Amino acid sequence: MSRRSLSAVAALALFALAGCRTAPPSKPLPPPIVKPLAPAHGRSIVLCGERFDIEAPVVLWTDKGGYDAYSTELRFPDSPPKEPIVGVRYQAGRKLPLAEGEKTPRVTALPGDPRRRADVRALVDQFVVHYDVCGTSAQCFKVLHDRRKLSVHFMLDIDGLLYQTMDVSDTAWHASQANGRSIGIEIANIGAYKPDAASTLDEWYPSDEHGPRIQLPAWMKDGGVRTPGFVGRPARPERIVGAIHGVDYAMYDLTPQQYDTLGKLVARLCAELPRIRPDAPRDALGKVRMDALSPEEFAAFSGIVGHHHITVNKQDPGPAFDWERFLGDVRARLAPRGRN
Ligand SMILES: [Zn+2]
Repeated sequence: MSRRSLSAVAALALFALAGCRTAPPSKPLPPPIVKPLAPAHGRSIVLCGERFDIEAPVVLWTDKGGYDAYSTELRFPDSPPKEPIVGVRYQAGRKLPLAEGEKTPRVTALPGDPRRRADVRALVDQFVVHYDVCGTSAQCFKVLHDRRKLSVHFMLDIDGLLYQTMDVSDTAWHASQANGRSIGIEIANIGAYKPDAASTLDEWYPSDEHGPRIQLPAWMKDGGVRTPGFVGRPARPERIVGAIHGVDYAMYDLTPQQYDTLGKLVARLCAELPRIRPDAPRDALGKVRMDALSPEEFAAFSGIVGHHHITVNKQDPGPAFDWERFLGDVRARLAPRGRN
C-alpha cells in the first residue's frame, strides 16, 4: 500500500468516526416515504350501474385520471381542435328493435330501473374489436372525444390497463350500424399498413437485443401510459402480413398484457350478456373471416366481430390480431362458469 493510499484510508476513518459521533445513538429511523408508482386503479367494470370484477386493471370514467365519454368538455384543453365541438358524444340508453304495432322504438329503461339490465341483456349481442391507430389510449381518447365527437365503451392501453369511458347500457358511437346492439373496444396499436408502405411500423417498433419494442414518438412523451417505464413488446416478434378484404397489410401483434386483459373482459361480458356468443364469423372451412359480412349475415350474427366484419372501409383489428388465441382464452375462462 502506498503512502498516499494510507493517508486516504486515514482520512476515510476520520470521516467515518466523525459520522459516528454526530449520528443519534438510538432514535428510530423515520418511516420510509413510499410514493405510489401510478394513480390507483380498480379491477371492476360497470354494467347497468353494477360493478363486476374482471381480475384485470381497470380505470373507470369516474376515477381520477379516467376518460369520461359523458363529458361535453375537452379532455385535453391544452390542445383544442381547430373547429369547436359541442354536444354529447353518445346516446343515452339503447333503442330497442321495433315491436309489433310500434311506430317509434322504445328506449331501454332509465338508469336505476331494474328493467334496464333485462333490456340490455335482451338487446346487446355483439362485441366489436377495433385498433386505435393512435398508439396509446390517452391519444385515442383525444382523437375520439376531443376531435371527432365519437365514443367507445372501452379502451385497452399497451400495458394492459383497461379504461371504461361509459356504462355499456348506453350507446357508444364507434361502429355505425353496430352501435345500437354492440359494445366496443379500441385497442392501442398503431395499426396495419400496406407492406411496401410500412415506414410507420419501422418507427414504432425498433428492435433491441430482445426483438421489436414499442417506441412512442418523442412528442407523445410517456403517451399517458400509467405503468412507469413500461416496455411494450408484440406478443409475436415478427411483423405479420395478412389479407383483409383481399388486400395484404402488415402489422405488429398486440402486447401479451393486452391479450390477458381482453380475454378477461370479454369472458365477463359474455357471461353477463349471454347473447354475445364467444365466437367470430367463420368461413366454410372454419377460419375466422377476414372480409365484411353481407347485410343479412350481419343482421343474423350474434357474437364477437372485428370492425372489418362491419364495413369494407375498415381493416381493424388487422392481420396480426390473433383471433384464435383470444377466442380460445375467452372460452377457457367461460368454461368453469358452465358456458362453452
Ligand atoms: Zn375501428
